[in-house]
Amino acid sequence: MTKAIILSLFILFTGFIVTAQNKDEIDEKNQSSLKKDQVDKNDDNYKYKPSSIDVTENIFMLKGMGGNIAVQNGIDGALMIDTQFENASEFIQTIIQRKTEKQVEFIVNTHLHGDHVGGNKNFSRKGATVIAHKNVRDNITNNLNKNSREDILKSLTAEIEEAEKKGNVDGKVKEMKKNIEKRVEQIAEDTQADIDYEALPAISFENDLLFHYNDEDIQLIHLPNAHTNSDIIVNFRKSNVLHTGDAFVNGMYPYLDTKNGGSYNGYIEGLKKIERLCNKDTKIIPGHGELASFTDVKEMATMLELYYSRIKTAFLQNKTEDQVAAMRDFTKFYDNKAYGEGFITTEKFLRTLYGEVEKNEGVYKRRNEAKQKKYEESQKENKN
Ligand SMILES: [Zn+2]
Repeated sequence: MTKAIILSLFILFTGFIVTAQNKDEIDEKNQSSLKKDQVDKNDDNYKYKPSSIDVTENIFMLKGMGGNIAVQNGIDGALMIDTQFENASEFIQTIIQRKTEKQVEFIVNTHLHGDHVGGNKNFSRKGATVIAHKNVRDNITNNLNKNSREDILKSLTAEIEEAEKKGNVDGKVKEMKKNIEKRVEQIAEDTQADIDYEALPAISFENDLLFHYNDEDIQLIHLPNAHTNSDIIVNFRKSNVLHTGDAFVNGMYPYLDTKNGGSYNGYIEGLKKIERLCNKDTKIIPGHGELASFTDVKEMATMLELYYSRIKTAFLQNKTEDQVAAMRDFTKFYDNKAYGEGFITTEKFLRTLYGEVEKNEGVYKRRNEAKQKKYEESQKENKN
């Protein structure tokens, strides 16, 4: 009897969910059928819709096109870690609203990449305060300035080349060349507004920060030169939940963004630090991939150290980068687990690690080679 009631309640409940979902879909379709081009745009946007996974009673994870998001909900409000892409914001907002009945009050960015900070402005516009490592802010502003200046210079140079091709424009080309720096300055100044100040962190810090929110001490810990030079991990101590940003990704090769200060040594150091903060029950939200545990972090460190030592051996045996990039004997185990099918392919990963080996070991190798050469020469002289 009781079972029957529970069963019918269950049917009623699931029936309600199905109806609610259908209604959402119908509303969405009705709205978008207003304009044909709007329909296409909405359909294209749909790929940004993340799915929600409950991590603890008050922390859930949003998994979608960009980096994994964590949301902590509680007595003080809603805190969100990372914001994925700009196009995902509406979906994210809807899920958070439904699950917490709140607007996001604080955003923490784990690092500077667009798939983690892309939605910042959409939430800061609605009142959220963005917190990140200082290098996130510096990188965004510097890069934007630099990129736009480089782009302007490129387009002006192309303009001059075009004018030169047309010939008989000596005076004009001369004038254009003479004024090029001035024009770059002028255009750069005019386009300054392109920097999205709403997306920038309002609060930044250099080392670590302790944040007290929703009855929990939340540690924001900087990992120097790991995935980038701006990585922080977020440790919810009481909940025993850790968001690692891309300082750890689950089930795929990690991206060492060396152009933005990432490094092999820093990445390994970071993984060891994550290990020290964990126990077997810790729930780890990686930058990308499924919800993880302590053993997944250990496996990543083991894989990295194995690859590094194999590439180091090859490097000391004078193997070139191309030769190392083609090696598959030691990568098979992880390739079979689809590690190379993410953003970083096996080849790209090997090339990056080769670069790191060269950076770390190249000096010693060359020094030893010089010593060896000297020794051989002196042996020769002795014989003579
Ligand atoms: Zn990243």
